[in-house]
Amino acid sequence: MIEVVAKKCKNYDIKKIKQIFFDIFSSSNFISKLSSLNSVLLKPNLLGPYPPEKGVTTHPIFIAALVELLKDYNIEISLFDNPGGNVKYNEVLQKCGILNLSKKYNIEILEPVKSGIYKFGEKPEYIINKPFLDCQAIINLPKLKTHTLTLFTGAIKNMYGIVPGLAKSNYHRIAPHPTKFAEIVVDIYSLVKDKIIFNLMDGIIGMDGNGPSSGDSKNFGVILGSPEAIALDFCASKMMGYNPKKIPTIMFAAERYGISHQEIQLQGDFKETYKLENVNIRKSKNTNKIIRLFSHPFKRFIRKFFWAYPDFLPDKCSKCGNCVKSCPVSALAIIKESPIPQLDRDKCTLCLCCIEMCSENAVFLKKSFLGKFLIK
Ligand code: SF4
Ligand code: SF4
Repeated sequence: MIEVVAKKCKNYDIKKIKQIFFDIFSSSNFISKLSSLNSVLLKPNLLGPYPPEKGVTTHPIFIAALVELLKDYNIEISLFDNPGGNVKYNEVLQKCGILNLSKKYNIEILEPVKSGIYKFGEKPEYIINKPFLDCQAIINLPKLKTHTLTLFTGAIKNMYGIVPGLAKSNYHRIAPHPTKFAEIVVDIYSLVKDKIIFNLMDGIIGMDGNGPSSGDSKNFGVILGSPEAIALDFCASKMMGYNPKKIPTIMFAAERYGISHQEIQLQGDFKETYKLENVNIRKSKNTNKIIRLFSHPFKRFIRKFFWAYPDFLPDKCSKCGNCVKSCPVSALAIIKESPIPQLDRDKCTLCLCCIEMCSENAVFLKKSFLGKFLIK
């Protein structure tokens, strides 16, 4: 059996979280392995410059609790993630509360530009930062969130962050369909799967609606842990109300590694059938339907009546250009005369990277009348 432990935790109380981590590690027979570890690389979700309370990124207190526990075992700790698009790394570290954390605990924060890359395969060629393979071990720290493109952001999807920022856009360009994109996410996860020794999911405050960055933050009050990312995603997505067998990243990864749902066992404070209350997964499912229709062979005809495109709010947009630089098909441009970025609809593949990378929440999905009517 593959065990996943889920524990109740209503707020970011460092002592309580540290105790929960200890309990999860003990229950998974992982605590004995800690003594043999010299160093570990923490891989949180640092998608962009979002404050911790927004529920987009792994909370700094969640990370601090783990750092305190690992320090009790004299383990050397470093931390690394590649934010999306072209955002400034230092700004992300500062806004997400990671700079303060590194000062307080003296942990090494690795930097994308100084880390070097490895390349694998061709068509597509995968590019990842070296430390994710050169490290002794990774502890994966995903956030519990919805995701309009992959439906669910979890432990498997969190490893997409091993790809340097703008290289990510390339995979969106070559795989605009959600199912194709999920295959790429699983390929990338597979490159470092053997390095991941444990997964701890921050579901204390997470996100529903149109995640991963413009949804609604929610107090889910749960922490999940497992040595197996696929099993963790299975239980976490099920708790949110999804059918895990319909989430492409889980489906492909489970098939590739021969993991069946009968082998997965949920332990801790919740029953197997437990569902988190009032979680809105409908919005992510509906937006996902629109994206799928955009990849339809008759898309040109369909788009005449049934369209959805990113649109911009002039009162929120600072013209920072992050969305422009993150667009994989150069469909956006900043021009002097306009208070918002200009969109070339013919080029747009509806990857939603611009929405994901706008920390001002200035981008939204505008739908045609039929679009609004058919997908509420
Ligand atoms: S929409 Fe957002 S990301 Fe794009 S330029 Fe405006 S503020 Fe920046
Ligand atoms: S405009 Fe936005 S949704 Fe369209 S392709 Fe560019 S980043 Fe993706």
